[in-house]
Amino acid sequence: MGAADRLRETVTPAVDAALEIASAPPGAVFVGWAAAVDAATCPARYRAQGEDGWGFPGWSPATAAGAVARSALDAHLEVTDADQAGQPVPAPAPVETVRRWMRATGTLDARGVGAWVGELRAAGDTATLAAVAAAASRWLGGFVRVVGWPLPQGMALLNVTREGPTGTAPRWWPRQGSPVCVASGADARIGRVTGAGGHTLVVHRASSGDDDDLRRRAGFEAAAGALALRVAPAAVTITAGDTGERARIVVDEGLLAAGGEMIVDVVRQRVVAVERGHDAADARPSRRCRWCEVRADCAPGQAWVAGPGRWRGGLPAIGGG
Ligand code: SF4
Repeated sequence: MGAADRLRETVTPAVDAALEIASAPPGAVFVGWAAAVDAATCPARYRAQGEDGWGFPGWSPATAAGAVARSALDAHLEVTDADQAGQPVPAPAPVETVRRWMRATGTLDARGVGAWVGELRAAGDTATLAAVAAAASRWLGGFVRVVGWPLPQGMALLNVTREGPTGTAPRWWPRQGSPVCVASGADARIGRVTGAGGHTLVVHRASSGDDDDLRRRAGFEAAAGALALRVAPAAVTITAGDTGERARIVVDEGLLAAGGEMIVDVVRQRVVAVERGHDAADARPSRRCRWCEVRADCAPGQAWVAGPGRWRGGLPAIGGG
């Protein structure tokens, strides 16, 4: 039995146990990175988000940037490769590559983020289209800068929207018909997915974050990727477009278990949300309170932002302060 199987045999009964004690059906539970980090860092915040936060969060210029950029890069590789007659594919010009894909996607049998871009085009929402193009161009430029060009040998893009049924969106459901859907957010993998599990998942961020998030992200994506692809990766590489950062985190049983626990915790918090939603007793104030959308109803968060904690912003306290 491989590490992915062991993880599945741990996570599935834990999800079952969490759902069994629900006082009412919890509805769809979409377990992506955004939900997992909220549940891990401030359960009260996750539970306060309501249906919009518990299901697929939907598209916005920020959430669509990576999806549009990956799809544009995928199309660049495919179309340009066909045109090049064996010559190396030139590096993509980010702005042009993204614009070309966005212009074309309205005429395709679009799915996923392509359907959303098509809707924006049909509605004539040029302001949102421009914001999406800018965010996706930045994402693509940073990605190529960090991973290099040509793309590393054996790299395959993940979570890509293509015409027809060929796109890849790694997902896992604990059981058939389960309300819980675990979504791997990895942007690419390097190496083939074989039983030996030698592949690496690549997660690109337009800008860098703190080390806590980096390790949590690696654990979550390792676990979600292992469940969706049925083979655990050997490592997760996390990159950042602004700093050029490239951190390779080796996947072991401990990292997978931590990621699996994050997945189960989202389900647990969703079940608690059925009963009591936001509860200040479970609030965990941190620098995240600065941009928390439920802060207006959260006394601990308001106190943190108004108090000295905001000045430290994650740095260690000095002396008694
Ligand atoms: S304001 Fe802070 S403590 Fe309150 S719910 Fe949001 S993140 Fe949690």
